[in-house]
Amino acid sequence: MKNDTLVNHPPAVLMPADDRPLVAPIYQSVKFSFDDTGETLRYLRGEREGFFYSRSSNPTLKQLQLLLAQLQGRDDCLLTASGVATLAVTLLSLCKQGDHVLAFVESYGPTRYIVQHLLAKFGVAHTLVSIEDLGGIERVLRNVPTRVVVFESPTNPVTKIADIEHLTAHARRAGAVTVLDNTFAGFHNHGAYDIDIFLHSLTKYASGHGDVMGGAIIARSELIAAMRKDIVSMGPTLDPHAAFLIQRGMRTYFLRYERQCANALACSQFLKSHPRVNCVHYPGLDTHPQHALARRQMRDFGAVVTVELDGGFEQGARFAEALQFFSISASVGSAESLVMPPQLLAGNEYTPEQRAASLIGRGTVRLSIGLEDAADLVQDLGQALDKAYI
Ligand SMILES: *Cc1c(COP(=O)(O)O)cnc(C)c1O
Repeated sequence: MKNDTLVNHPPAVLMPADDRPLVAPIYQSVKFSFDDTGETLRYLRGEREGFFYSRSSNPTLKQLQLLLAQLQGRDDCLLTASGVATLAVTLLSLCKQGDHVLAFVESYGPTRYIVQHLLAKFGVAHTLVSIEDLGGIERVLRNVPTRVVVFESPTNPVTKIADIEHLTAHARRAGAVTVLDNTFAGFHNHGAYDIDIFLHSLTKYASGHGDVMGGAIIARSELIAAMRKDIVSMGPTLDPHAAFLIQRGMRTYFLRYERQCANALACSQFLKSHPRVNCVHYPGLDTHPQHALARRQMRDFGAVVTVELDGGFEQGARFAEALQFFSISASVGSAESLVMPPQLLAGNEYTPEQRAASLIGRGTVRLSIGLEDAADLVQDLGQALDKAYI
């Protein structure tokens, strides 16, 4: 063997069967090889376990898939390279020309884009109502044959709570598939409800450190099996190294989520008492209009706190810029605190009626509360509010 052959066939190191790494290695390999053609064919026919090509399966991804499915209380999971990919490929796989989708005014912007523009290109119709409009939800599901209901709870940015029991009961009666983007609530919430498919952006609380993107589609195995070929053929797979980082992030998921929720409650209680803050949206506050519903549905309430500041754009930007421990940035659920000033939240393509339902106004500021010391965060919010109104 010459050296240029050798570098392409490096020495194999096999682990003895009774000797295992405590942290699973990263299988940074696109291909996996069986000993012979017969075993390869058996694998491809689904007659044996194994791995062949990382676009469809990889051991590093498999570990994360098993973990996330179990946490969310379903049997199977597919991983994608970002959270929005879960929305795009799930909806494309579920819908065909002539179908109808029920979506919500308060949904994540790219979700609305996918429903209103991408699916529309393929002849899929939609209705958008407010997540609080229970009568509207009932009416649509009773009168329009609906393939999919896609929703969130709490919603972004104003943390409205979907009435999940009401929504799933009406969807089930209408024969619609329910898809919950559960990113804000996390894997430990909502699993007991009659929801068909859970989607998560792993970029947020799962990885937790703001250094990797990913998405998860979690459902019972028949549903995943029905979508698997479509989704694998669209090619959105997660990279093994990213899966490894997310798996590592998951070790501290509960510690981080609990701490971030406690910090969020402390921040929201302080903000509620401040004279320049007209309203605080946090489902954990007993002043939140759907606090009782949130308590019934959730174990804890997440780390997104949104405020309505006195004044408008100018004060919102001054407040955001004066904050020391909150960076002006997109995203939520990271270890460090983040802030979105009103100018960055206002870009939605809403009709005036939809804008009113969205509750996003000129003084709306979204905070994603991180892992810092709660007293430091409260002190920072106070000094930034002082500076915003000098
Ligand atoms: C961030 C987010 C997404 C998209 O996730 P990416 O990983 O950024 O693509 C989808 N849904 C919700 C609710 C989100 O917050």
